[in-house]
Amino acid sequence: MSDLGAHLKQLIRNDGPISVAEFMRIVLTAQPDSYYMRGESFGAGGDFITAPEISQIFGELIGLWCVDTWQRLGEPKRFSLVELGPGRGTMMKDALRAARVAPDFLEAASVAMIEASHVLRRLQEDALHAAPVSSIHWLDRFDELDVTHGPVLVLANEFFDALPVRQFVRAECGWNERAVGIGVDGELCFAAAPAPIDIDLIPVPVRGAPVGAIVETAPARAILAAAIGERIAAASGAALVVDYGFVGPAVGDTLQAVKRHAYAPVLAEPGLADVTTHVDFTALSHAFTEGGAHVTSVVGQGEFLRRLGAAERVATLKRAANEEQPRQLDTAYHRLTAPEAMGSLFKALCAYSPASLKPSGFFTA
Ligand code: SAH
Repeated sequence: MSDLGAHLKQLIRNDGPISVAEFMRIVLTAQPDSYYMRGESFGAGGDFITAPEISQIFGELIGLWCVDTWQRLGEPKRFSLVELGPGRGTMMKDALRAARVAPDFLEAASVAMIEASHVLRRLQEDALHAAPVSSIHWLDRFDELDVTHGPVLVLANEFFDALPVRQFVRAECGWNERAVGIGVDGELCFAAAPAPIDIDLIPVPVRGAPVGAIVETAPARAILAAAIGERIAAASGAALVVDYGFVGPAVGDTLQAVKRHAYAPVLAEPGLADVTTHVDFTALSHAFTEGGAHVTSVVGQGEFLRRLGAAERVATLKRAANEEQPRQLDTAYHRLTAPEAMGSLFKALCAYSPASLKPSGFFTA
């Protein structure tokens, strides 16, 4: 058992079982040896590989999408370009390189990287040391963003999945919060807290689920999305979310741990595996709207990237490529867009304001 495992057990012995949300917060970010705070785990040699790490075309297309959205906003002289949870900084690096086609965009951008992990911040600083913008800074939280910079463009790839969720289990009488306790073998285990919670916490369409069913809600996601929606409504702009998830509401336990590119038991090695859940895009849309932003419909990642010109970008890169690269480009394109790979489990959603902005990739002409 990891040190963090011992810490969790002590916490549970002292105070009683903890919620799944609290468990996620502790194993991911709350302690120096939490998963992201250790920050060793990204890329092909790590535990999982994300879209920007698969191919440069992902970040490049997102960069061109940002330029296009900035143009739709009337090319403001100053704006904030914000990334939530930038990992190794690869997406921002590729996005800014692609945005060189629009020097005025780069001139106007004040880049803000929202990152909890100081280890990952250092990797991001390395990735961006030669980035073609004059202003890049790092923040712990979105609400620390300077409000005097005008419109905001927010990017979040595989970020919302890492925010804590609450899980509720349907019992004979009401719904109980799913918790993490210590079993008879002395190991961490799941259990349901005995006292039923307020039924208002359960989305109406799933309240009739059978005994034993699990439902997830994500207040941390909703609070952040509402704050972003509010900011966009007040200052104009857009927030692009790409993540794995579903169009809810739905019943089911999506809590998962990933270590060295394979699923692992969620409670086995706290802090040594990535622990996430699938994102409910309907709940996220509602939260953005509650903040005052408009939202697009949800589009599969494959469809979204194709609409942004992924196939054309691959063709261009192939023309300039050496012997090996065309095959690698085809493999990456397939991974990012094919329905049996990341093309449909991964989805894109955009919150935006004003209503006339209509960000590209979401509306068919
Ligand atoms: N976007 C990157 C990394 C995804 S992993 C990519 O696609 O490769 C999740 C990222 O979010 C990590 O950088 C992690 O440190 C960060 N993160 C997780 N929870 C956070 C929080 N509560 N606040 C800020 N950053 C967080």
